[in-house]
Amino acid sequence: MQKPLQQNLNEDVCIVCNVRRSAGIHIWGQFICDVCERNIVKTEVSDEKYYYYIQKLKKIWLEATS
Ligand SMILES: [Zn+2]
Repeated sequence: MQKPLQQNLNEDVCIVCNVRRSAGIHIWGQFICDVCERNIVKTEVSDEKYYYYIQKLKKIWLEATS
């Protein structure tokens, strides 16, 4: 039976895709995984997904500042 070599204690649930990942960034105490971070960066303003991401980020912002 194989054991994981090390447990990643930095895993967190991404607030955009709700997937538990270890790689990503924390903004105002909230976690955004590297996949979503890259998606946000490459999303065009004209893309309807951009609006979705902005809403997610707004939610973080409001929770952090309230
Ligand atoms: Zn994500």
